[in-house]
Amino acid sequence: MDRIYMDNAATTAICPEALSAMLPCFGDHFGNASSIHGTGRDARKTLEEARRTVAECLGAKAQEIYFTSGGTESDNWAIKGAAYANRKKGSHIITSQIEHHAVLHTCEWLEKQGFRVTYLPVDEYGLVNPRDVEAAITDQTILISIMAANNEIGTIEPISEIGKIAKAHKIIFHCDAVQAVGAIPVDVDSWGVDMLSLSGHKFHGPKGIGALYIRTGTKVDIFLHGGAQERGRRASTENVPGAVGMAAAMKKAVDSIEENGMRLIAMRDRLIQGILSRIPYSRLNGHSLYRLPGNVNVSIQYVEGEALLLRLDLAGIAGSSGSACTSGSLDPSHVLLAIGLPHEVAHGSLRLSLSDGNTEEEVDEVLRVLPDIVEKLRAMSPMYDDFIRGQRK
Ligand SMILES: *Cc1c(COP(=O)(O)O)cnc(C)c1O
Repeated sequence: MDRIYMDNAATTAICPEALSAMLPCFGDHFGNASSIHGTGRDARKTLEEARRTVAECLGAKAQEIYFTSGGTESDNWAIKGAAYANRKKGSHIITSQIEHHAVLHTCEWLEKQGFRVTYLPVDEYGLVNPRDVEAAITDQTILISIMAANNEIGTIEPISEIGKIAKAHKIIFHCDAVQAVGAIPVDVDSWGVDMLSLSGHKFHGPKGIGALYIRTGTKVDIFLHGGAQERGRRASTENVPGAVGMAAAMKKAVDSIEENGMRLIAMRDRLIQGILSRIPYSRLNGHSLYRLPGNVNVSIQYVEGEALLLRLDLAGIAGSSGSACTSGSLDPSHVLLAIGLPHEVAHGSLRLSLSDGNTEEEVDEVLRVLPDIVEKLRAMSPMYDDFIRGQRK
């Protein structure tokens, strides 16, 4: 059997539509989009078409889309940019404990610069309570940043409710929608967001390209100083192939969101049910309904997540433990700790993230292989041995 790739929350394969849209940009259409000659004007035209496509997919205006180098840059720009542009008004930021590190580490850095940050807790499913957001607001609050969907456990947050609260208090609302775009419908107006981050490589576009949506009138400082690109707000020669590839992938993903979503939810739920019924002492992390269509995250007690991943890899199955950014470190995931898992349970967690490239046969193969691997690992675990002996007493 071919390799099975179930790590689509870390990155996805480039779709043929994105690739064929990009290839000419590496050939004849290599121009600098800011040059005034014909070659440059051609590149500019292609770039602006990509911008319109991205805007349409979000219900935004083209002039509100700024191309960046990815989700991390968009998050950094949105948060640092809003913090510094509104410093005279206040110095308090509200976010959650389960944000991506691109948000959390940015906020932690801002704390060192004199800003105050509230990291809201989440419930056992990873949901942020909008009432907690409202209760945390002070007359110093200048920014709320809450993610649309969590990259580890797939929980979908009540963004439009939080948007209403932000609007009522006239506070800028940023949303990291990197995992949501292309997976669930995104609309900047009905969500009530002022800024929104997205990244090409999470929905079958290329790596190293993303966008930040900035609602007209939102006060945000420039992040990259230099030339006059992106209306003078984000310097550096435009990444035309990246933008074009991302736009093509985004259009395809958004156009097939319903069809793909239903297929993915069916595969996801079969995988979840199959794991929970075949493997004793396993549990689902995240919410069963407010959940990304492709996200499976389970904790399997008395196994080590890393050991599980290595065995799965040997069987040709690519998954992840916690998030890709934390694998390699021994700290358990901040998300799993925030939903209340004890350290030892958090350590034995497995994320399998599906995309439209996955098949029912692959789900069957994982369900065939995984219980066996777990059994073998538990057979070597002194902790499991103690536990089973305790049970027999
Ligand atoms: C992947 C991811 C990012 C970072 O995006 P890059 O384009 O890889 O920098 C940020 N936030 C979330 C929720 C993500 O899943």
